[in-house]
Amino acid sequence: MSGVEVRSVKFSYGKEIVLENVTFEVNEGEILTILGPNGSGKTTLLKCLNRLLNPEGSVLIDSFDISKLSERDLAKLVGYVPQIHLPAFPYRVVDVVVSGRTPHLGLSMPTKKDYELAYNVLGKLSLSYLADRPYTQLSGGELRLILIARALIQQPKVLLLDEPTSHLDLKNRVFVLKILKEVAKEGIAIIMSEHDPNLASLFSDKVLLMYKGRIVSYGRVQDVLNRENIVKVYGVDVEIFENNGKRYIFPTIS
Ligand code: ADP
Repeated sequence: MSGVEVRSVKFSYGKEIVLENVTFEVNEGEILTILGPNGSGKTTLLKCLNRLLNPEGSVLIDSFDISKLSERDLAKLVGYVPQIHLPAFPYRVVDVVVSGRTPHLGLSMPTKKDYELAYNVLGKLSLSYLADRPYTQLSGGELRLILIARALIQQPKVLLLDEPTSHLDLKNRVFVLKILKEVAKEGIAIIMSEHDPNLASLFSDKVLLMYKGRIVSYGRVQDVLNRENIVKVYGVDVEIFENNGKRYIFPTIS
């Protein structure tokens, strides 16, 4: 299959089991959003999908078992945008983006073509104006977008993003998610974690709702994001509205 297949994944940091019986799949062109309260295992799961952590069970990408791939082959298949990335050196933004080509370059230096790709990706994300700026002088939102550009230039089959909208204002949240929708259309499978069920509802093809390391519900937005599941997982009562086939979720305040 083209995309990601996760089968019976189990992981513990020590004695405590943090993920158990996690099974799902994401086809190329689809966005799957992982929702769940803090500590439910979202970041751990994303790290199991790019081998930062090695779980029990299996993770297949385009039918390749990732536990059997070389570092370089894995990096060609999977792009990862972490939640926190503190820039250490004032590299130019375009050089940071070009560094995403590393899995394709081996020991060679980036060529003019790699820089062309970097400028193209920056253009596509409306970020060309940042190309020559030092990476250390970006706002939180700009930094997030540059990390997405760096992952895209890697030309992965799967893009993993840990809370790509955190610390962004509403406009930038929607901008990032619209960009990810475009990226998915190019045939990439996207798996991201998110805190806002409304954004998940508006932008996802599938949702994986987690609680304490287990899947509570998985499937289409309409089937997963219902009142019963949300009360069960978040302990907050909500009212749900439908408009134009989209679902809107509001906490009720008594
Ligand atoms: P989420 O991303 O949903 O907030 P995490 O995957 O970060 O959840 O955490 C899941 C559980 O694993 C939590 O109980 C957390 O305390 C624990 N955990 C996360 N990272 C580590 C670690 N490096 N060592 C030990 N426990 C960890």
